[in-house]
Amino acid sequence: MAVTLKHWPAPDSFSKNIPATGSAGSFWEDRGDRRHCGIDIYAPAGSAALAIEDGEVRDVGTFTTPEKVPYWNDTKYVLIENKTGLVCRYAELGQVAVEIGDQVKAGQLIGHIGIVLDMTKITSDSPLYIQKLTKKQNLSMLHFELYSSLPDDSSDYLGGNWFGDLRPENLLNPGDYLSSIG
Ligand SMILES: [Zn+2]
Repeated sequence: MAVTLKHWPAPDSFSKNIPATGSAGSFWEDRGDRRHCGIDIYAPAGSAALAIEDGEVRDVGTFTTPEKVPYWNDTKYVLIENKTGLVCRYAELGQVAVEIGDQVKAGQLIGHIGIVLDMTKITSDSPLYIQKLTKKQNLSMLHFELYSSLPDDSSDYLGGNWFGDLRPENLLNPGDYLSSIG
């Protein structure tokens, strides 16, 4: 079998450590009324986001917008179905460099990392985990999700969080996947 090439998706990230289970930015982190669907990889705003594997861009769209939540900036996501069958969502991008239907290679630029939170709009009424985030120095990150098949649209999903009781069957913990990237 051919070896699948994989690229770390945020080459300028401050760390390649995967957040420990339960900690901020970890997969399925309990955020009170919602669960975190991915893993957050902190990197400078405007730095590159790269495709991890060869695949096809299946969707590009709005990830966060102040029209939905006042303290959100406009960010976008890219959904790529890898040749291996896994589906990656790269999100909280300020800019996107690919279009639906594009074939991408591992390591190809797909966008630039954005800043999801508008600090000026965060108040004591905002969710506690959001208020905690504002104490961090850097608020730009790649929000990364992994699926075993293309995710369905769901009203339980918003901005990388899941509001339903049951975790979607095809939503995977991306920790081992990200750790396996050399
Ligand atoms: Zn996230």
